[in-house]
Amino acid sequence: MEHQRFIMINPDKCTGCRTCEMACSLYNEKECSPSLSRIRVVRNEAIGDSFPVGCALCSKPVCVEVCPTGANSIDPVMGTGIINEEICVGCKACVRACPFGAAGISYRTGKAFKCNLCNGDPQCVKHCPSNCLEYAPVELTVRHRRRALADDVISKLKGEG
Ligand code: SF4
Ligand code: SF4
Repeated sequence: MEHQRFIMINPDKCTGCRTCEMACSLYNEKECSPSLSRIRVVRNEAIGDSFPVGCALCSKPVCVEVCPTGANSIDPVMGTGIINEEICVGCKACVRACPFGAAGISYRTGKAFKCNLCNGDPQCVKHCPSNCLEYAPVELTVRHRRRALADDVISKLKGEG
């Protein structure tokens, strides 16, 4: 997993349209339902802004550590979560343990679910109309962030900001 990719969120670009939730649930559950989506959009009504929240693909995932049956594991290649529905007992231990609210329980099956990056082609990224979401290697993403910060600081120093 040396060049592991993940979903980077550019919060400034999110319009709160929730297309990502629809694309995710339709692809993974064959149903447009926010409560079955692996990515969720949280809206702050006070400031009128929205922010998509999803699985952080933790290096040491507590959702896996707390699973009593071994149903919750990690794909050794993608680094994503796997839920083995055959042995998931729906105890919600992973849901309680995840610090980001990224694991859920299907109201249809009673089993846990979480992001699997749609097998390498994340539908939320593909269908986001405002390019808020980016599927990129970690190193490339931090390089872009450093560049944006440096450009911002330099333009302020030059009195352009
Ligand atoms: S599709 Fe993109 S812009 Fe729309 S809510 Fe999701 S992340 Fe935000
Ligand atoms: S579901 Fe939560 S704890 Fe598990 S890998 Fe994703 S962010 Fe980490």
